[in-house]
Amino acid sequence: MTRPADSHCPYCALQCAMTLTPTDAAADAATPPVTVAGRDFPTNRGGLCKKGWTSAELLRAPARLGAPLLRGADGALHEASWDEALDLVATRLRGIRSAHGADAVGVFGGGGLTNEKAYLLGKFARLALGTSRIDYNGRYCMSSAAAAGNRAFGVDRGLPFPLEDLDGASTILLLGTNVAETMPPFIGHLAGAQAAGGLVVVDPRRTATARLTDEGKGMHVQPAPGTDLALLLGLIHVVIAERLVDEAYIGARTVGFDRLRRSVASWWPERVQSVTGVAALTLRRLARRLASGAGTYILTGRGVEQHVDGTDTATAAINLALLLGLPGRPGSGYGTLTGQGNGQGGREHGQKCDQLPGYRKIVDPEARAHVARVWGVDPDDIPGPGVPAVELLQLLGQSGGVRALMVHGSNLVVSSPNVDAVRAGLERLDLLVVCDFFLSETAALADVVLPITQWAEEEGTMTNLEGRVIRRRRAITPPTGVRDELWILAELAGRLDCVAAFDTDPERVFEELRLASEGGIADYSGIDYAMLDRGDAAYWPYPRGSAGTPRLFAERFAHPDGLARLVAVSVRESARPRPGDDEVTLVTGRLLEHYQSGAQTRRVPELLDAQPEALASLHPATADRLGIADGDDLEVANHRGAVHVRARLTTDIRPDAVFLPFHYGDAQAANLLTSDAVDPVSAMPEFKTNVVRVTRITSP
Ligand code: SF4
Repeated sequence: MTRPADSHCPYCALQCAMTLTPTDAAADAATPPVTVAGRDFPTNRGGLCKKGWTSAELLRAPARLGAPLLRGADGALHEASWDEALDLVATRLRGIRSAHGADAVGVFGGGGLTNEKAYLLGKFARLALGTSRIDYNGRYCMSSAAAAGNRAFGVDRGLPFPLEDLDGASTILLLGTNVAETMPPFIGHLAGAQAAGGLVVVDPRRTATARLTDEGKGMHVQPAPGTDLALLLGLIHVVIAERLVDEAYIGARTVGFDRLRRSVASWWPERVQSVTGVAALTLRRLARRLASGAGTYILTGRGVEQHVDGTDTATAAINLALLLGLPGRPGSGYGTLTGQGNGQGGREHGQKCDQLPGYRKIVDPEARAHVARVWGVDPDDIPGPGVPAVELLQLLGQSGGVRALMVHGSNLVVSSPNVDAVRAGLERLDLLVVCDFFLSETAALADVVLPITQWAEEEGTMTNLEGRVIRRRRAITPPTGVRDELWILAELAGRLDCVAAFDTDPERVFEELRLASEGGIADYSGIDYAMLDRGDAAYWPYPRGSAGTPRLFAERFAHPDGLARLVAVSVRESARPRPGDDEVTLVTGRLLEHYQSGAQTRRVPELLDAQPEALASLHPATADRLGIADGDDLEVANHRGAVHVRARLTTDIRPDAVFLPFHYGDAQAANLLTSDAVDPVSAMPEFKTNVVRVTRITSP
């Protein structure tokens, strides 16, 4: 195969468009098999970030796995044939199932899988394994925003409008998102708001995104970590108190205003100031700016969502947007920025423990009957709801819990909260099977590792942060020893004597997905590969015969009565512990050079050289108080564990906080310190505000 292929980046949800041109890699083992060039597309306009530019390095990285690995009697992993590996997995799964029941087998998926893989993985879990216990790493990313969107709007699409709509904005409020580092080409869409002096960034750190507000381009608001909900309740209070509410919109398009009004009555700006540290005057100025006219957008990210009160915080942001009449109004809106490459599609096709394809509820008899018809089985053959990710991991190796786990597209011992407990659970299993292209920290614990194809070697579809379905195209032939996960699932289903059909051709799997999604919330029935190959914009819901839905909510919301819900939420004082005198709050997040658990980007030399280790960012005043100098070796610890990193002193962080990136494993894994307490609505763990002690490690 030598022709260039138009495809998209393997990493984040912006899914920047690329052209992949095959090279003569055989001439030089160090030459990547494709060159990557940015391609003009409405989201990235030809731009790529460092990760995208270097993504070809992933394809022939020296650490790439080239054959299945089985753990031998000596405790080491040894290469094996595909038949040996698949026969072993099927035999062990059968044995565990018959000894402990179908729910003793768990499946953990990922938000980076193509739509076709995510769909087939959900089907495989329910029909080939017969287990209810499937969930995925999107639980760590989008679950709070999704839960808030579903209860307010009746639907969860990250951006309910095309990204280009932001170009015309005069005010954009970014709540807890660092797009300048996580998806740099995105910032091109902020230029209009910057020019109007209306870019507002809420973040406890002075991030690269916060710096975009300098020189009169907007405002950086720096609340204390974990106080976003109080800040939003204060903004809502001011909007109501100063009669900035769009009353016609509230009357015609929402329910719940009176209860909401009563719920924020006591959140006057001075009280908010005492909780968040944000000046009352700043709060009032911000509320007035948001209400100052057309062209206002409110966007949330993981900074405000990855909390035990993440759903309520995202709900408060939606309440604010609704009070201002933004959702569905041309040139204005509310949205949440999906992070993982297929974080949107990954939550629509049945990987979630409570869902069937089409974003259907698994407990809904009509949904079960519809999907059962497509799958050619009886509705009773589809297990009921399982448990969300954190609970699934807490069941590993427990009596009556999960004895075998299949992992696809996740590096659990880096990305999960309280990773020491997760590692212990994985070590208790009778069988751990990991599909990956590198020996990630999780794969290194597995009994069986199955090496898989990568983005430039496969066909499929992804759904980007706008809810736009796009094509991933094959530019090169995969290495001989690796296999596509569709093939792996079909082979295992056959070995497990599953009666349902498992296709291995991505386009035919997509055709089945279309049928399964038809009539659901995320309806893909009107989308096919031919139209995507023509370059047609395909936004779901896209019912058969329609033109798709680039913009949602223009006339009605997705609840049966067409109205949005204003949901009164409140601050739970007990939601999180507060730091004592000798403690600070740990804030976790991402760096420009790395993606998620770093399993991929730490294998790219240019990216690893730029950010080779986790550094703990501390304010100089805090460092001074703790006797720490720049570059000192530190222990950052709490009752869950300890991380060993070096200090980086910066005034970009508040004195009451320490920042750690979460891309690193082993002794630098930030998630050694994070809590597996979860949000009661979304089951999102608390990644963003955990109490730690920081101490300098002195030489013996
Ligand atoms: Fe890839 Fe995201 Fe960077 Fe674009 S912004 S090149 S999609 S990592």
